[in-house]
Amino acid sequence: MKILIVAGARPNFIKIAPIIRELSKPENKNFFNYKLVHTGQHYDYSLSESFFKALNIPDPDYYLNVGSCSHAVQTAKIMVEFEKVCIEEKPEMVLVFGDVNSTIACALTAKKMNILVSHIESGLRSGDLTMPEEINRIATDSISDFYFTTEQSANQNLMNEGVDREKIFFTGNVMIDSLIFNKDEIDRHSKIQSQKKYGVITLHRPSNVDSIPKFISLIKTFNQISKSIKLFFPVHPRTKMIIANEKLESIFSSNIDLIDPMGYIEFVSLCKNSEVIFTDSGGVQEESTYYGVPCITLRDNTERPITIEVGTNFLVGTEHGKIIKCWKSLTKKINHIIPELWDGNTAKRIVNVIKNLDLNN
Ligand code: UDP
Repeated sequence: MKILIVAGARPNFIKIAPIIRELSKPENKNFFNYKLVHTGQHYDYSLSESFFKALNIPDPDYYLNVGSCSHAVQTAKIMVEFEKVCIEEKPEMVLVFGDVNSTIACALTAKKMNILVSHIESGLRSGDLTMPEEINRIATDSISDFYFTTEQSANQNLMNEGVDREKIFFTGNVMIDSLIFNKDEIDRHSKIQSQKKYGVITLHRPSNVDSIPKFISLIKTFNQISKSIKLFFPVHPRTKMIIANEKLESIFSSNIDLIDPMGYIEFVSLCKNSEVIFTDSGGVQEESTYYGVPCITLRDNTERPITIEVGTNFLVGTEHGKIIKCWKSLTKKINHIIPELWDGNTAKRIVNVIKNLDLNN
């Protein structure tokens, strides 16, 4: 079967690595002929190439070089370039991941060319249409052929939207495959870290950093917390630009380390050994859940409710008082369970499903 794998942004790279490893195994090599397409949505070394190296992802067969631009321009550019790849390669199936612009752009392009679309990490819903990712999720799922899900809520969301349940495959979480596969290296890296207690911050969603008063209020909250605990803040390039443009660096307390985006192993190792994480990221909510590290999510909603149900994730929004209250209420040990099928074998299950699909039906 000829397939195209699409990746464009940092979270995608972590998700494609286990699938590519699985497709390259001797038992699958003869069945699948895959090509990797990197759209260039993230192109910065720290968000792209460093992940290819750390996760041993082969060089892409196609690099679409779209770069950073408005949502409409970026989505359109990816579609124009991806259509050329589809014309040349004539794949039977396109695999798209997550909720970024590359996901919807390539799903839409492929579907209009009558190419089958498989969406990995489908069905997640925050219910918040002001989030560009939510629009990408809904639009991609409305035209996909096969749906691979990470949690039961996603299965239910898809069925509520009328998706045929036979097309939904609850296979687990490929992000967790990457954590488990790289466990030794993550642990080796942990040993070289300081043993001191610390917390981690990640922040890049437009709803938190584009509004300057809101961002400043969050910084003040972090400053207060940093009086009790050291905080590391690997700053996403998007957030870095806002900090620079608005000259916000000087208002951060000296107990908050603003650092460049970290490599994958370094970052997950930092999170694994932290006391608490403050984030608006999707992936970090899941990684902290796997590690049992308390995660204070600085959003009003989450598309990953399982992380709350198992007890590691606290959805608090962005108000100063609520964040401080939640942080003060954290107890040291969280009794958590790891969500169903977050076991390191998701890519294997996905590839087996695709291999056994009856495409004549
Ligand atoms: N990540 C990383 N270095 C960093 C920050 C994040 O390696 O400095 C990884 C981490 O594994 C996270 C993933 O990148 O789960 C995706 O992060 P991001 O928050 O950019 O995307 P989202 O999951 O919110 O779409």
